[in-house]
Amino acid sequence: WQNSASLCWLDSMLVALVNCKSLKKSRPDVEPRQSTVWRLIREHEDVGSAVQGHRQTGSDGVARVPQAVLEKSHADLDRLRMSVFQQLQPKLHCKLGKKETPVFALPLLLAMDAWAEPLFRTLFHWEFKCTECGAATKERIWKTLPTFTDVVTDWHPLRAVHLAPCNRCSRSHQRRTMTLESVPPVFGLHFVQGLPSNDTGNYSFTFNRNHYSISTVIQYKHHLKHFVTWICHSNGSWQEYDDLKHPECRTHSRLPVPAEEMHIVFWEVEEGCKEPAGCSPSSSFSALPPPDHPGTSKPGG
Ligand SMILES: [Zn+2]
Repeated sequence: WQNSASLCWLDSMLVALVNCKSLKKSRPDVEPRQSTVWRLIREHEDVGSAVQGHRQTGSDGVARVPQAVLEKSHADLDRLRMSVFQQLQPKLHCKLGKKETPVFALPLLLAMDAWAEPLFRTLFHWEFKCTECGAATKERIWKTLPTFTDVVTDWHPLRAVHLAPCNRCSRSHQRRTMTLESVPPVFGLHFVQGLPSNDTGNYSFTFNRNHYSISTVIQYKHHLKHFVTWICHSNGSWQEYDDLKHPECRTHSRLPVPAEEMHIVFWEVEEGCKEPAGCSPSSSFSALPPPDHPGTSKPGG
């Protein structure tokens, strides 16, 4: 998708969804009832196959696609993007040209799709303890995109602590811990201030004998108020989907995103990486949610 009408918030999210291996793998052949995400993936694939089908290799050995086919595929993708925009409109109140964020748009889109939402929904506890007044809370939550603010420097999905003020005495820098109870095939988190490191290998983890690694990063470029999606290939390289650089789509051997701009991160189960029983982590950790963080969203386009 090419940037238009400040739609980078939508483009970055659509690119993440159509490239999501777990979604493609568990996609039923027949459309589930009212499944926006299913239709998005299906229609995106149809556009891709139409382009592939018209590829012709010239006498110089270079494969080309006729201009008319390319133009039609761009028009089809634009239509697809607008249909998702229109479905989000009543809930998100998005307007063309007005910057939004996938942090709000993605959970709303998933909530409209009974097939896709469970594939993203994490069950966890938020546990909070205040060292000043002793206030302690624990809450069990289902969510598709939980938020972390000021994460600790050794943050890891299995040591998921961030610092926040106490709701009772307002003392700052109190620890809130997320303890995972059930991890979905696509485990997504929102980091308001990014992660401590951009070495994605640091954040792989094993849960219930499944090995998870980072498959997708949505970068937030603060100075441009702009979202860019990065997809990790099986060989470890990263493909950049920046709608301002469309149609260029460069591959990088390492993820060149600054740690503080890693805004939304998705982990997916690695294929064929079941660990033997006994190697699963003990699930003896725990957690209170930052009540939803008003004012922590960063709109972009
Ligand atoms: Zn307190």
